[in-house]
Amino acid sequence: MTTTIIGYPRIGEKRELKFATQKYFKNKITEADLQQTARELRARHWQVVKDAGIDQIPSNDFSFFDTTLDAAYLLNIIPQRYQDLHLPALAEYFALARGYQGVDGDVKALPMKKWFNTNYHYIVPEFTKDTKIQLHGDKIFAEYQEAKALGIQTRPVLVGPYTLLRLGRFIDGTKPADFTAALIKSYSEILSKLAALGADWIQIDEPALVYDQTPADLKLFKQLYDGILASKGELKVLLQTYFGDLRDSLDLVTTLDFDGIGLDFVEGRKNLELLENVKFPADKTLFAGVINGKNIWKAHYAKALSTIDGIKKRTDAPIVLSTSCSLLHVPYTLRFEDKLAANEKRYLAFAEEKLTELSELRQILDSDLHNPLYTANTELFSKPRYEENATLNAKIAALTEADYTRLPARKERLAIQKDEFKLPLLPTTTIGSFPQSPAVRKNRRQLRKGEITREQYDHFNEEETKRWIKFQEEIGIDVLVHGEFERNDMVEYFGEHLDGFRFTQNAWVQSYGTRAVKPPIIWGDVSRREPITVATSVFAQSQTKKIMKGMLTGPVTILNWSFPREDITRELSTKQIALALQDEVLDLEKHGIKIIQIDEAALREKLPLRKSDWFSKYLDWAVPAFRLVASKVQPTTQIHTHMCYSEFNDIIPAIDALDADVISFEASRADLTLLDALQAAHFETEVGPGVYDIHSPRVPSEQEIVDVIHKILAKIPAANVWINPDCGLKTREEPEAKASLINLAKAAQTVRAELEHEN
Ligand code: GLN
Ligand code: ZN
Repeated sequence: MTTTIIGYPRIGEKRELKFATQKYFKNKITEADLQQTARELRARHWQVVKDAGIDQIPSNDFSFFDTTLDAAYLLNIIPQRYQDLHLPALAEYFALARGYQGVDGDVKALPMKKWFNTNYHYIVPEFTKDTKIQLHGDKIFAEYQEAKALGIQTRPVLVGPYTLLRLGRFIDGTKPADFTAALIKSYSEILSKLAALGADWIQIDEPALVYDQTPADLKLFKQLYDGILASKGELKVLLQTYFGDLRDSLDLVTTLDFDGIGLDFVEGRKNLELLENVKFPADKTLFAGVINGKNIWKAHYAKALSTIDGIKKRTDAPIVLSTSCSLLHVPYTLRFEDKLAANEKRYLAFAEEKLTELSELRQILDSDLHNPLYTANTELFSKPRYEENATLNAKIAALTEADYTRLPARKERLAIQKDEFKLPLLPTTTIGSFPQSPAVRKNRRQLRKGEITREQYDHFNEEETKRWIKFQEEIGIDVLVHGEFERNDMVEYFGEHLDGFRFTQNAWVQSYGTRAVKPPIIWGDVSRREPITVATSVFAQSQTKKIMKGMLTGPVTILNWSFPREDITRELSTKQIALALQDEVLDLEKHGIKIIQIDEAALREKLPLRKSDWFSKYLDWAVPAFRLVASKVQPTTQIHTHMCYSEFNDIIPAIDALDADVISFEASRADLTLLDALQAAHFETEVGPGVYDIHSPRVPSEQEIVDVIHKILAKIPAANVWINPDCGLKTREEPEAKASLINLAKAAQTVRAELEHEN
């Protein structure tokens, strides 16, 4: 048996790629310097994978921003407005990802969306009448040759045409069928070219197969691959899937001319069952994803071996041991985690350690169960990892419908709140964070290193809050925020004040481009040890006569942005977190905080990929968990929530059922299409569709924002509309953030004046 992985984290063990790229963006290093860092990282990663004993090593899993964008770029799926900038290749590539603002042009970034059910974001390919698909870039070839020159044979990885079409955005009346012929031609050329360079395998990623498939979808898939595989020649093609099972396509894909098929046996448990009914041909290789590529727990070898056993019973095909998905979704290494207790680290495996797991599994399979690697692993899993909080779990078991229901009903509450707050029409607010400037980060670093006292640290943050309160008051924002300077991260900060979490120092996972997150680990039962945000919010409120919003992260997001437990259900874990947050909400209310925002930035992210599972497997417990947090507050307390996306057209009723009073969400990158759906669904929650995109350094003009507000008002009654950016401003630089907010406040005032004039 041999081993492989689907992809490896590209950011580097110390996030070297992030730091180099940021320097390049700031013109502190040249493109050549950045390319050099990238080359070194790739070389190191190939070597690490090889040294761990992995047999087949991927290449082109590296990316400067996103591999879906890389595929689009390679295929010349570059909208005309970017081509018109006439930038050098790398600058053009970054313009697609981040937008471009210069003397020679001003273009917004392409939309960015979450990659399936992960917190990784991809850039949405845009297909238009002008799209001319043809080979354009050469990254995949160059990286293959780069590895080869180092004496390492790799298997280039590329996002497949079907997934590109499923994820793409089609404008000017174009549709996927308009591009199939050109895609077949280009992928065929890629295959021939790789074969000519000496590659023996290519890995084509088609995770879109784990969505629900219609007959037309499957027909498209077949058409694409009948065409592409006809010209594969000597090159072997691995069809790689992940994040789920192929319940509607396994019979099709096994009849096509692929040489290998990669199946996920972790999230796609059902794949094993499917192999009962669909004969997996013995002349194809089955790449078995048995090591979890998304979670950080050490693999329980007995379970992995039983899966492999199950596969072997169902097919005679050769098996390659693999990960369930790319290791891009887990942190790089445990080596730098010196704060975690040694006996706790034994339960964990990050990307590097997962390489070892694959190699150990292979060794066990090549020997027998007396292998010491196997006995050590079995021994570890034979004892409990933590002590259960039985009182808490009994309390959860005793919850009733009333615990999930806020009274009076929302309509009545909103009237009470309008009376209480007397906010102007189109009230303005922001999502919570202000720039985490070098000074803010330095202050945190100094506290961590013990260079300053806790008092000095708090004092700095309070001064920063005061400064920003003054700014918000000056420009006329209506509902203020304190700026979240005390938060390194919206989940870790809460986890630190809750029992049951563990934290890492370096466990970064790429979120998008140069951004990475460091999810905490939910280790045991969760409960609130102490008030979390009360002192900060009370201080901020004491500095202004305007309303200061309290700011919490919601239970579903805390769960979804942590590494979850696998020994209890996500539902139970989330309810534990919800009860802890309920204590916090009531504490804030008691201390005079009148508006409390409970962010559910990641609620949608973990929606099951197949619609048929949305309610039964997720929303049926996720929505109540949110309600549990807010159910006991007074009618005069206004509950806001925030979501970092706008694709909730299909779950609008569920979003309304959160029973928040106000929701802000991302809208600016998606052209406000959600508004139609909200209107159609008679959405009751007041809405703040983001009026500009904070993920880009670009500053929107007042007029641009006025235009967006007009679009919003065409669909939503003015009385229900809030004006805000589409997410927190922590990643922006202070001048950009301020300039944008000034324009936002002015735009709101302008439109308010227009409305008053009309009446
Ligand atoms: N309140 C958070 C902030 O403004 C929300 C962040 C998010 O939605 N990702 O930073
Ligand atoms: Zn957000």
